[in-house]
Amino acid sequence: MSCPICQRASDDKYRPFCSRRCSDVDLDKWLTGAYRVAATELEQDETSSDHPAEDPSNRTN
Ligand SMILES: [Zn+2]
Repeated sequence: MSCPICQRASDDKYRPFCSRRCSDVDLDKWLTGAYRVAATELEQDETSSDHPAEDPSNRTN
């Protein structure tokens, strides 16, 4: 099996990666992707809750 990051022969210690560095690269990619998904969900939530807090025409004084 070869390293999914750099295609070199993988090391038993860091399978399926060839080194700690490639393992970190993959983890970083995964975390970045997860963060992007969370950010997109936040944006969507903000848009869906975009309504006026109070209606000024409904005031009687
Ligand atoms: Zn590698």
